[in-house]
Amino acid sequence: MANIGTDEDFVWELEQEWKKSLPVFTERQWLTIFPEALQVFRKRIWDRIALNKKFYQDELKRQQTIINKKLSYPLKDHWAVDLAVETIDENLKEVTKEIKRDRWILTILKSATKKKISNSSIDKITPDDILRAKEIPITDFIQVNKSGIGLCPFHTEKHASFKVFKDNGWYCFGACGIGGDVIEFIKKLNKCDFIQAVKFLVKK
Ligand SMILES: [Zn+2]
Repeated sequence: MANIGTDEDFVWELEQEWKKSLPVFTERQWLTIFPEALQVFRKRIWDRIALNKKFYQDELKRQQTIINKKLSYPLKDHWAVDLAVETIDENLKEVTKEIKRDRWILTILKSATKKKISNSSIDKITPDDILRAKEIPITDFIQVNKSGIGLCPFHTEKHASFKVFKDNGWYCFGACGIGGDVIEFIKKLNKCDFIQAVKFLVKK
């Protein structure tokens, strides 16, 4: 039977080791991973603030009661009363700090949500999408001859000066004098940003 206990201890120790190896995320990091958790976090923090405020009020009342009773205690016990008052003072300071910290976190969460909204399109494309986008032939969007030459869609011209290369790159040898890959091409063609261009190419 003793062996079982030892095994259990061993397993418990293993579990503790494993738990230690888990990454410890801050609330902010959690939000980057699961933006959906924002509501949960916010509620949790508001609850904590409410709890701390109640604790503060209760401690304050307790302190007042002790102070009011002080004179009814024998003089030799006054040091104990003073000590109790002091301890409560420390508690009040501690809890005030916690409330301040939580309020600060709430402010950060607010700015994090704003950022999340402006970055929301980034969340929806993956490195794989970018690779796939780069494979979409430019010639799906522009007519060129056998040599890959066509009219530049970015400036008005009579003589074709737009070239699509075999590696799916492009260059305008005419007025534009610019080139790039298919993503750059779509960015310019659709007047959109990188992410929108990738989404357009992979039909996301
Ligand atoms: Zn051009």
